[in-house]
Amino acid sequence: MGIITVKNLDFSYDNETMAVHGVSFSIEKGSYTTIVGHNGSGKSTIAKLLLGLLEKKSGEIFIDDLPLTQENLQKIRSKIGIVFQNPDNQFIGSTVRDDIAFGLENHQVPQQEMDPIIDEFAKKVKMTEFLNSEPIKLSGGQKQRVAIAGVLAMKPEILIFDEATSMLDPQGKDEIKKVIHDLHEDSTITIISITHDIEEVAKSDDVIVMDKGKVVLTGKPEEILLKEKQLISMKLDIPFSLKLQKALKTNGIKIKETITMEGLVDELCQYASKK
Ligand code: ADP
Repeated sequence: MGIITVKNLDFSYDNETMAVHGVSFSIEKGSYTTIVGHNGSGKSTIAKLLLGLLEKKSGEIFIDDLPLTQENLQKIRSKIGIVFQNPDNQFIGSTVRDDIAFGLENHQVPQQEMDPIIDEFAKKVKMTEFLNSEPIKLSGGQKQRVAIAGVLAMKPEILIFDEATSMLDPQGKDEIKKVIHDLHEDSTITIISITHDIEEVAKSDDVIVMDKGKVVLTGKPEEILLKEKQLISMKLDIPFSLKLQKALKTNGIKIKETITMEGLVDELCQYASKK
């Protein structure tokens, strides 16, 4: 059993249409899983169900072997952190330090123990020099890094990013993607990234594709990304790197297939150096 196991999950907001229907999946401990789908496919609803913010209509949810019940709710919530889309809605403190402290205060961490924890996680997201800054002085990417530090300070076992980069400019997006990938490499935390952006799939361990409230595909990125027709039919498209490879192939340029942009750049450099 994975750290998260979901079986036959159903949920409806209005008792008529199913926002989530017959959803089953399992997420391995320590993995980086991307849940991808077009807007309205049910991804955020799944995140809210996992956190017990919405109550399932039927089905089962197990987090770290614990069934998600009213009785286990607090225990389960302490295992999961979530970073949302809008950095402005997540900033609670008047400075970065206060903001990271907020969750610790809620967890009744003694004042004298807080500072080293805040320093540790501010360093992890490279925000140490901004600890006394006000939110208004920060970019969107920096605000999201603070939100990540605040959640990490709670030491969750599972960290969910719900469209956490979608409101950021390209530089902010890159900053946050790097923080997430570094976290995955340096820790045993389980990461779930929820996104409508197919570009974010290539670097994950596992992928869950949702459409119209259902899980339609699960697998490794290299399997999923080859299903071009199916992805396009779900308004997901294929990543730019694969489109470029197709164009190169059409023009007689043969390189080894790769799903990441970095892989493609490597292959193109090798191709160019042989010319
Ligand atoms: P996604 O995260 O993939 O964009 P959501 O989980 O937000 O999708 O939405 C799934 C479905 O549930 C959509 O049809 C959406 O319109 C509906 N929905 C989402 N939130 C609410 C809500 N608070 N009340 C009613 N319907 C909702």
